[in-house]
Amino acid sequence: MTPVPKNLQVLGNELAIAWSDGAESYFKLADLRRLCPCAECQGERDLLGRLMKPPPRPLTSESYEVRGTSPVGGYAVQIHWGDGHGDGLYTYAKLREWTEKLPELPPLATAFPLLPVR
Ligand SMILES: [Zn+2]
Repeated sequence: MTPVPKNLQVLGNELAIAWSDGAESYFKLADLRRLCPCAECQGERDLLGRLMKPPPRPLTSESYEVRGTSPVGGYAVQIHWGDGHGDGLYTYAKLREWTEKLPELPPLATAFPLLPVR
């Protein structure tokens, strides 16, 4: 059974999770945003398996701020980002996987130079 977060909070520029099995995870908000699992950010495959992906939206410093989080169905957490984006469901299973090894981050699409994320 996948452990669930006992405590999940934003600390500075990180999301900290204390898990039911005693493990702890710390994710940089910027990394989590870039790994947003929603269809808009990651694309969807059509019937022929082609990846359909809208042009990535430029991320601003607001994109890396978290307004809030809400648990979804006991298996995932939804993160509400400062720029209004919030479609991605971060499953607990995936967050645990990312705790071991973060996947390669997708390239940044920027219309503006990124502000450094502290
Ligand atoms: Zn997204």
